[in-house]
Amino acid sequence: VKEQGKNNYLFFTSEMNESIVRRTTMEKQLAIALEQEQLTLFYQPQVEASTGKIAGFEALVRWNMPERGLISPLEFIPLAEETGMIIQLGEWVLRRACEQHKRWIDEGLMPVIIAVNISMKQFEDDSLFETIRHILIETKLPPDLLELEITESIGLQGADQVINKLNRLKTLGVRIAIDDFGTGYSSLHYLQKLPIDTLKIDKSFIRDMISVTPDISIVHSIIRLAHSLQLDVLAEGVEVVSQLEMLAALKCERLQGYLFSRPIPAEEARALLLRQKLD
Ligand code: C2E
Ligand code: CA
Ligand code: CA
Ligand code: CA
Repeated sequence: VKEQGKNNYLFFTSEMNESIVRRTTMEKQLAIALEQEQLTLFYQPQVEASTGKIAGFEALVRWNMPERGLISPLEFIPLAEETGMIIQLGEWVLRRACEQHKRWIDEGLMPVIIAVNISMKQFEDDSLFETIRHILIETKLPPDLLELEITESIGLQGADQVINKLNRLKTLGVRIAIDDFGTGYSSLHYLQKLPIDTLKIDKSFIRDMISVTPDISIVHSIIRLAHSLQLDVLAEGVEVVSQLEMLAALKCERLQGYLFSRPIPAEEARALLLRQKLD
């Protein structure tokens, strides 16, 4: 009898079933994580290419799971998007990033840009404008220090709608960056109409600059394009000095990547700002 029970169990736990179980478990755990403050923000420095100074930080969420330790956002952001939990999670990230940075400014540390990722689902949600407006009022962070990183895929929504939404967000005084630029499809015409401040070149192009058959032509074109539209350029995934040198020569404004620092806990980010102040 025991043997049979075991077989039945195995029969019903097909691979598909198992993944559904795992998903619902994770979904419940994520809801708990939000309540119990199991989420934490890491910060990755964005360096000013001309001076080597910290010009900003990108806030990157981590899930500190009681049994597993730090979990990558790649493991739970897609789930949070599917379940709609990204709205709540994204609001938490925005509030925490703004609060934390305002505290550093109040301590006398140099104000820098704080970049926050906004997922497609969040961007589509009608409450985003009010959420950000409230958070800026609550935290008193100067709006021009908040940079919203939005991916090119928002364009799928329909150009006019996207432009209207971005224009409305811009009235709050925040900065807008297009993340992972070059991986999606945006025409020059479309880009020209968007009220954006920064183009963030996707790390795949930065990697290709130093591949076996190095190719800097795409990066060169993107930077030229951005500058012709009066946009700042930020390169992500900068890992080696030769990339830094090429990007600096191309007058890329900001650089981000393991060469400078991995994403670090808030305390370490604060220490970097403190050291920069004392230098
Ligand atoms: P992303 O926005 O493109 O963020 C950059 C990712 O590249 C980060 O991974 C960062 O740790 C990694 N990275 C930084 N420097 C280098 C480098 O030199 N080389 C390489 N190979 N990678 C580098 P992370 O933190 O695992 O985040 C992964 C993705 O998860 C992010 O990609 C973003 O799409 C998403 N994500 C993270 N935090 C949030 C959040 O708060 N909200 C939303 N909606 N998405 C988030
Ligand atoms: Ca990003
Ligand atoms: Ca990116
Ligand atoms: Ca991304």
